[in-house]
Amino acid sequence: MAEFSLIERYCQGLGTEHPDTRLSIGDDAAIISVPQGMELAISVDSMVEGVHFSAGLAPADLAHKLIAVNLSDMAAMGALPKWATITLTLPDHDSEWLREFSGSINSMATRFGVELIGGDTTQGPLNVSLQIMGLLPVGKGLRRSGAQVGDDIYISNTVGDAALALHRLQTNVVHGTPSGVDSFLMDALLRPEPQLELGQAMLGLASACIDISDGVVADLRHIARQSQVAMAIEVEKVPLSTAYRDVCGGDYDLALSGGDDYQLAFTAPVSNAELVQATVKQLAVSVTKVGCVMEASNSPNSALNENGFDHLIKLSLNGKPYTLADNAGYQHFTDERS
Ligand code: ADP
Ligand code: MG
Repeated sequence: MAEFSLIERYCQGLGTEHPDTRLSIGDDAAIISVPQGMELAISVDSMVEGVHFSAGLAPADLAHKLIAVNLSDMAAMGALPKWATITLTLPDHDSEWLREFSGSINSMATRFGVELIGGDTTQGPLNVSLQIMGLLPVGKGLRRSGAQVGDDIYISNTVGDAALALHRLQTNVVHGTPSGVDSFLMDALLRPEPQLELGQAMLGLASACIDISDGVVADLRHIARQSQVAMAIEVEKVPLSTAYRDVCGGDYDLALSGGDDYQLAFTAPVSNAELVQATVKQLAVSVTKVGCVMEASNSPNSALNENGFDHLIKLSLNGKPYTLADNAGYQHFTDERS
């Protein structure tokens, strides 16, 4: 199939049309108009076969994850997602693959009010990338750099489920159609739910926010470093699902160091604590206070001290200092480049 008819058939008219879109797919560029008093939040994420997903992943799952991880970045900023562009690099023109991919993009884009306004299509090893654009009231976006000493630290819903699912896939505990706890865990891995309503509701309430893609400790460390503060986390307060507890009991390590949760971690002044909970009550999410922001010690840039404890993220379990087991996740977050 020619590239042109491929685009017409599978890329045009996906998602929700917006009046602020002046020009959509079909020209050399799309044109959008940003409403007065608003500014654009823009983010892009790629998924490469063999790096971010394995060969054979269902195209609908790939599409879901691609758009969900980008929507999650909008959630972390408190932005209202509006427009997307997609780059598809495909080994061949497989109509069935494209139909499923595009159907899944369309249903997510429609559900979250996003319009697909352009992209690029080339031939090569399978990789897909999506750029998302959203609206924020001028100057109000939630940044990683706003945490203040004394603020509370919160995590949405539960963490560790996606990492546990991946662990169970990789160790062959799960094969074929998952059942019981595993269907919940696999959903967390394959069908993450971007926390857009929560992010938007926290505009003006949270002081800093991030979405948890690399793991609770790794991502909180980004807030700590960019806000020049330290964080005390009470590990026993980290919210775990029933499925996670069923499998892991009281082992918190995957929940602390595993990635792919796409929940939000945020800080807020203590004076907003009641308002945070009252606001969240109206949404279908829960948020749990897991710790508080502290002054950074004198060596904020070295990751660990000689005892293996983290200078920026101080973990305690029932009042006693806690270190994560020396596993892959731990290596990941101690890597300064990550
Ligand atoms: P150009 O050569 O000028 O970049 P293309 O032929 O690549 O134009 O694309 C034609 C139109 O189709 C453009 O408006 C582009 O944004 C859109 N488009 C191409 N690929 C995709 C895609 N995968 N998803 C959405 N729109 C696409
Ligand atoms: Mg092009």
